Amino acid sequence: MSTLIDSFGRQINYVRLAVTDRCNLRCQYCMPAHGIEIVPRDHLLTYKEMYRIIRVLTELGVNKVRLTGGEPFVRKGFVDFLEMLSFNDLLDDINITTNGAMIYKHIETLEKLQKVKNINLSIDSLKADKFNEITRRNVFDEVFKTMEALEKSSMNLKLNVVVQSGINTDEINDFVRLTKDKDIAVRFIEEMPFNGKGQRSIEENWNYTKILNEIKSEFSVTEVQSEKSSTSRNFSIENHKGSVGIIPAFTRTICGDCNRIRLTSTGTFKSCLFDDGVFNLRDFLRNGASNEELKDLFLSLVKEKPENGFIAEANRKKGNVSESMSTIGG
Ligand code: SF4
Repeated sequence: MSTLIDSFGRQINYVRLAVTDRCNLRCQYCMPAHGIEIVPRDHLLTYKEMYRIIRVLTELGVNKVRLTGGEPFVRKGFVDFLEMLSFNDLLDDINITTNGAMIYKHIETLEKLQKVKNINLSIDSLKADKFNEITRRNVFDEVFKTMEALEKSSMNLKLNVVVQSGINTDEINDFVRLTKDKDIAVRFIEEMPFNGKGQRSIEENWNYTKILNEIKSEFSVTEVQSEKSSTSRNFSIENHKGSVGIIPAFTRTICGDCNRIRLTSTGTFKSCLFDDGVFNLRDFLRNGASNEELKDLFLSLVKEKPENGFIAEANRKKGNVSESMSTIGG
C-alpha cells in the first residue's frame, strides 16, 4: 500500500474535512457580524463525494478524520454521514469539532458510533454575557448544558478556547480550574487572522509563552509527553482530573511533525492551514476522475507540502491570511 509521505519525511495520516461553510454562530475571531458569503449548495461536496475521498485517503494510510465546518451539525444528514463513515474499516478515529449549540440531542446516537471518540467543543467564555458577545448569539445555556453532558458521556471531551487579547484572557485560569474536578482537556489556542478581515490590532500578543505564564501564575504545571504530531503542548496539574494544553497555532512551532492535510467543504485541498488552497478535488471528481487518478493526485500533492506554515503563508497567491475559518474548517 502506498502511503502519503511529504518531501520532509512526514507521514500524513490525518485529514481535517469541513462538511459545510455554514455556521449558526458569528464568533468575532472567525467572521464578521454579517457573516460570510456562503457558497451555493451544489458547490459543496456531497456526502457521497466526501465518503469516496476519505475512502481513497484511508487506502493511502490515513486513519484519522476530524469533521469540522462552519458548524458540522448545521448540515442536514450529518449524523447519517457519521454512520456511513463508521463503515470504513480503515478508519480508526472519527473526531468532531463543534460549537455545541446543536449537538445535544445527538449525544446518545454518537456514543453508539464506536469510531466517534473525540469531541472538541469550542467555548471561549464561561460567562454568559461575554460568551454571547463573542459569538454574537444567545446560546450560552445550550452550550454549557452540552459541555456538561459531553463530559459525562463515553466520548473524550476537549475544550477549544481561542485566547483573544482584551476579551477573554481574564478567564484563562477559570478554564484551568474546570480541570480540577472534570476529566476534560482544556486547550488554549492562539488567535489567528482567519476572521474574514485579517489581523486585528491587539494591545498584547497572547502567544504560547504568555498563555503558559498566565497559567503558571496560579498553577504548578508539569509538561506531559504528547502523542506524536500533537497540535498542543500538554500539561498536568497535581490533583486535577483533567489536563491543560496550548496550541501554538499562529507561532507555528508544531510544524516539524505535522501529519495533517485539509479539505474544505467545496473540495479544496490544503496541505497546510496557511496556504490558500492548492487543488480543487470537487471539479476533479465531477470531471470523472478514477480512484487511481485520485490516489496519484494525493501522492503528488503531499510531496509539495511546505515545510512549515510560514513558508505556506509566504507562497500564498491570494494575499495575506484573512479568509474566515468557517471556509476552511480549522
Ligand atoms: S501551520 Fe501548516 S505545517 Fe504547520 S502544523 Fe499547521 S498545518 Fe502543519
